[in-house]
Order: sequence, then C-alpha cells, then structure tokens
Amino acid sequence: MIRVTVWNEYIHEVEEPFVAQVYPGGIHEVLRRLLEDVDFEITTSYLRKDEYQGLSPELLKNTDVLLWWSHCANDELSDDTAARVAERVRSGMGYIVLHAGRNSKPFKLMMGTRCSAVWRDWNERTFVWNTCPSHPIAAGVPEVFELEGEEMYGEYFDIPRPDDVVFVSWFAGGNVFRGGVTFTYGQGKIFYFHPGHERCRSLYHENVIKILKNAVCWAKPVPAKNIDGGVFAPPLTEIADHENRT
Ligand code: ZN
Repeated sequence: MIRVTVWNEYIHEVEEPFVAQVYPGGIHEVLRRLLEDVDFEITTSYLRKDEYQGLSPELLKNTDVLLWWSHCANDELSDDTAARVAERVRSGMGYIVLHAGRNSKPFKLMMGTRCSAVWRDWNERTFVWNTCPSHPIAAGVPEVFELEGEEMYGEYFDIPRPDDVVFVSWFAGGNVFRGGVTFTYGQGKIFYFHPGHERCRSLYHENVIKILKNAVCWAKPVPAKNIDGGVFAPPLTEIADHENRT
C-alpha cells in the first residue's frame, strides 16, 4: 500500500466560482477520486488547513508520495514548511509537482534554480509527446496525446539537467516545454508535470491520470540503508599497514 498525500493550495476554488465548477470540492478532492486505486491510501490536505499549513510532521512522516498543486499563494508557504518537505524528500519521500508548483518554495529549494519559464494563459491546444517510452512513468501512455486547452509554459525552463525528460509539450502558439521531467534529491524521487491550470480540465484527462498513477508507483520510497551517512566504514579486505598511514 502506498500512502499518498494530495496537497493543494485550495484558494482559486474557494474564491472563483468558475474554478469551483471545474474542480468541485477543490483540486485535491477531485484528484483523490480520480487517483483511487487498490494500491493507494490517499489523504488530502491544503494550505490553510492548520498551523502546519496542512503538512504536519505526523502527516509528512506517514506520507510515501506527496502530490503538490500550488499557484497564487506560493509565497504564503513558510520557509519552515518548505524545509520540512525538502527534508522528507531527502529521506526518501516521493514528490510529484503539478503545474505552477514549479514556483513553489519546496520545489525551488530542491532544484536550486529559479524554475522560471515563459507563460501565456490563453487556454491553448497542447500536444504532450512521450519522449521516454521505456520510463515507468510513461507505461501505457501513447506516443502523443492532446489536451484541448492548457496554459502555455515554454522554454527556457530554468531547471537543473533532469534525470529524464519523459514528456515534451507543444503548444498551439508554437512554444515547446520540457513539461514532464524527473530528478533525484537525496533518497527521494521527484517528477514535475506541467498540466493542471485551475481553469482547464486537463487533470481529468485519462492519460494525465495514468501518468500520475504511474508516477506515484515510480516515486514510492525504496528502503535504503545508512541514509544518515557519515559513519565509519570498515574495509572489506585486510589493509596491513593502515596504522602507519597518515
Ligand atoms: Zn496556471
């Protein structure tokens, strides 16, 4: 059983009736329903939930994979919360970041770059190309699929060199974007995926859901030994004169 937490900013859905119509109950509740799987135990949470911004130490400790959606309140998240998320990823928690979550404090902290990109909120026809078909996140995903409307994010995307570019998106206005990329951070696996503008229905698309389910399975923690590091390592073979070495 993979313990999944879907964390959402949950502000657009509260403040804008149109967004509430697209994602009733909030993006987190819609994703909880769409990602339902016998292998997943899904919890939802959101920014203004409690004093821990919906990410209490207890919840983080009991999360194998954290799904993240945020946008207009990226600055409201405290540095302390961002640091606690990054520390959990460093220790092995998977982290899946959607859409404008690329500008969130935890993601930028872990990337170490600005994570900026060009953008245009014109609800453009988008083709998502599968550029790494052998990757577990791309399992069962066609060579290309279409989103009928999405916010354009385009190059240059200021991220470190990814482990894999699993998807590249093309937008009707001509821009392209490395929109599905993976990273390793300490013991943790990270997947960034661009769809999910709050006024678009991309998160309902069957291939987007398939990709997110694949990503959860891929990002789940793998038990690792000695993740604290810094311990003395006895030699595997006898080293005769080690006491005389300086
Ligand atoms: Zn957006």
